[in-house]
Amino acid sequence: MKILNSLILIIVCSVGYAYPTVKVDTLIDFTKADSAALKTELQLLDKILQNERFWEGIKNFEFHCTNWRRLHHYRKRNALYPKQKKDKHNYSNEEIYNLLWTGDDEIGSPKDSVINLKLQAKDYEQNKKGRTRHGGLDKNTLVISSNRKTRIHSGNPGEYACHLLHEYMHVLGFKHRKGRPSRTKKKCGGTDVALGVQLIAKDVLKKVLN
Ligand SMILES: [Zn+2]
Repeated sequence: MKILNSLILIIVCSVGYAYPTVKVDTLIDFTKADSAALKTELQLLDKILQNERFWEGIKNFEFHCTNWRRLHHYRKRNALYPKQKKDKHNYSNEEIYNLLWTGDDEIGSPKDSVINLKLQAKDYEQNKKGRTRHGGLDKNTLVISSNRKTRIHSGNPGEYACHLLHEYMHVLGFKHRKGRPSRTKKKCGGTDVALGVQLIAKDVLKKVLN
């Protein structure tokens, strides 16, 4: 019996400490070249997620606007995923950590330790002010769109991987208060959850690439 208990403990511990894995569930408009770039970036994403510095970073970052996990509230009624009540809870670092660690998205099984991604490759036109979008999330389908030029084939290893983590925080429901990062920062009095996670990932990336 003692042996059995120890065995169960070992299994529980190893499950509890397994880093989350990434699974791509959907690919839309990916060319061969896009898929090749994605493959390389997913390897870097795995390395970031398997680096203790990333998780320490999440635990210690000073996130702002943590009560803006509200994206799921703004869905259409006939969306692919259910419209939810407005979540105004102030998420602690521990809670943000757990959402990511357990892969608590609505794609696949809940809390499956799998970061499920539905991805689309896109060519964005410059707007009238000469700005180009890097990507975004469709809250109704949870498809992440990414700019081919500036994200998928940016020329900077890991740029797309860090962008995917940013967008994944939107998949989890975190919303920017304003359309532009600088305006969000001003409105929140600091870096919000999606931008913060991307910053932490970029920092870890430097170590991963060295
Ligand atoms: Zn964003």
